[in-house]
Order: sequence, then structure tokens, then C-alpha cells
Amino acid sequence: MLIQCENVTKRFGSFTAVDDVSLEIAAGEFFSLLGPSGCGKTTLLRMLAGLETPSSGRIVIDGVDMAGVPPNRRPVNMVFQSYAVFPHMTVADNVAYGLKIDRVPAPEREARVAEALALVKLADFARRRPDQLSGGQRQRVALARALVKRPKVLLLDEPLSALDAKLRDAMRGELAAIQREVGVTFVMVTHDQDEALALASRCALMINGTLQQVASPGDLYEFPANRFVADFIGTINLFEGTLAGSLFTSPALDTPIRLEPGATGTIAGPVWVGIRPEKIAMTQAKQPGTVDSLQANGAHGTIVTSAYLGAVTLYDVQAGNGTMFKVSSANAERSASQALPAGTPVWLHWSPSAPMVLPG
Ligand code: ATP
Repeated sequence: MLIQCENVTKRFGSFTAVDDVSLEIAAGEFFSLLGPSGCGKTTLLRMLAGLETPSSGRIVIDGVDMAGVPPNRRPVNMVFQSYAVFPHMTVADNVAYGLKIDRVPAPEREARVAEALALVKLADFARRRPDQLSGGQRQRVALARALVKRPKVLLLDEPLSALDAKLRDAMRGELAAIQREVGVTFVMVTHDQDEALALASRCALMINGTLQQVASPGDLYEFPANRFVADFIGTINLFEGTLAGSLFTSPALDTPIRLEPGATGTIAGPVWVGIRPEKIAMTQAKQPGTVDSLQANGAHGTIVTSAYLGAVTLYDVQAGNGTMFKVSSANAERSASQALPAGTPVWLHWSPSAPMVLPG
């Protein structure tokens, strides 16, 4: 493993910002630290960079214990949120700066700068100054400046947050392509779950300083470790209740939820069941079978609001007992009036494999 965090804790006075975090990151991974604002993800990144010292625990990078190793002696480089570049220097001089400090001879420096600028597609902008560049181009200068030093690990702190939505999307693709091409291990902090899911091969989700789950984007979404993860990643309908065998009952539901046999695992105590909006089918006519009798895995309700989002429409449906369901419906057909209007009575149903059982 290239990076090992062993029981890493960081306290600021009596406040614990990072609480006993252990995780491993392999060489070549695109790893993301994800979580709500204040969860401690930036503090953990800064500890990897050597900008903060752990209160306890150990950080090992490339087999070397980082205790006492200053930032400039670590095999890491950091790209900051504000993509700080020197305004009075050309793009090429900005990228060359770190190599000059390291006294890399001029011919090698020039070759490496040219290589780094080609990588971020700025070869034609070498003589410009940062104020003659767009935000996305400036961010790429910052990337080139970090990559030119050939670190083993690139630490990225919210690298795309200063860009507007369209540019952010474009840069996401470029960042992933650059990472694949250079094969450097990327550790990226973000509070934007879409960004983490789209880019990272694995994500660590932190809440209140503690690590909740480390998993691939697909596993985080489909198999969250607990209801906090389920709630943070994407949208979900969550119900608190009790399990009896594979039947779940909740005060919020008129009818039980039937789960796949074995889905409940060894979970004991208070239980939550979650169903993602896209796993609920919505029909205007009664469906035959389970929904017809509404004995399980279904509800009858009325559309309260709808939000047309292009590819899908997101509905709030109020069931007869007042419980609100979030349901998303794919707009598969091309039509000007995709969304059903508020007040439409609908039937909701889902398969026994749709609900996830989550510890309380
Ligand atoms: P954001 O996305 O808002 O940057 P974050 O998850 O990156 O949040 P951190 O910056 O790691 O969060 O901060 C975690 C907690 O530690 C916050 O409550 C913050 O106020 C606190 N904190 C961070 N640095 C310091 C410091 N130098 N002194 C005191 N408290 C700090």
C-alpha cells in the first residue's frame, strides 16, 4: 500500500476534527475523501501533506513513517482549491518554478515543463500570464505545476470548486484522463458527491471526524454501511421500524415491506430501511399482484410536487397516511409534457430486492 493511515486522530484543543481514522490507499488509485462541510476531510488531507501533525496515530507513505518529515520532503504535492498561481509569471515559468527551487538543470527543466503543459493541453499557452487565461486553464496550470515535480501522490483540495458548473463537468473528464495517463495516485477532497462518484475508484466517507465507509462509488450508493451514508449519498426514502424475519414494519407505513430472504443479515436493534427513488415504480393504474392488494411493497398516494430534471422527473408523492415518498421516473419517451401534474393519484411499488436494511 502506498499510503497507510493508522488510527490517525487530530485534535484542535478539546475538539476532535479527525477521530481514529485508519485507511489504506494503493498506488495508482484515484481516491476521494468525501463528506459534509466540517467532517475533517481537509484536515486529513493536510496531515498527509505534512501541513498538520496528527495528535496520535501514524501516517506511512511509500513505506516511510511521515512523523517529523516536513512537507517538502514528502513524496506528495498539493493542488489547492484557489489554484494559487503566480500572477506576474508566465504559464511556463509558473510550472518551472518548483523545479528551479530544486535546482533541476535548465535543459531537463524545459523538457519537463513542456511535457507537463502538453499533458494538461496548455502547450500553446506557455508564454501567457495567468490573467490571460480562463478559470479552467488556470486550474490546469496549477495541476501542471504539481505534476511536473513527479510526486508519488497528488493531493487535491476541492480542485474544481472554483469553476462554474459547465467547466467543472469538462474538467472532471480531463482530471480523470490526466490521472489515467500519468498513473500518479490522486487523493481528492470534495464535499460534492457527484464529483467523488464520477471520478474516484474508491471513496472514503467521513462524518463528524469519523470514517463511515470506504468503498467503490457503486457500493457506497447501493450498499451503504449505515443510514448516515445512505442519506449523504444521493436521495433516499428512509423508514425507522422493526424487523420480523424478512418483514419490516414501520409506523410510517400502512403495509409492511417484504425483503429478500437473507437481506437482513445479522442486524439487531433499531433498524432503518431505505429505498432509492429510482427503485420505486409509479403507475397511474393499479398493478395486478402485490400492489393490487397492497399487502406489501407498495403504497397508494397523490403527487404533491414534481421537478422535471431532463433525464428524470423527481416526484414527491404523499401516501394515504401522510408519509412522503420521493420517486424518480426516467423520461424515456420524447414528449413535451413529461411530468404528471400535482394531484394525480398514483400507485407505488417496488421489488423485495429494492429496500436496503441499515443499522440504526
Ligand atoms: P469543508 O468542506 O468545509 O472544508 P472539512 O470537512 O474539510 O470541511 P476540516 O477543514 O477538516 O473540514 O475541519 C474539520 C473541523 O476542524 C471543523 O470543525 C474546523 O472548524 C476544525 N478545524 C480545522 N482546522 C482547525 C484549526 N486550525 N483550529 C481549530 N479548528 C480547526
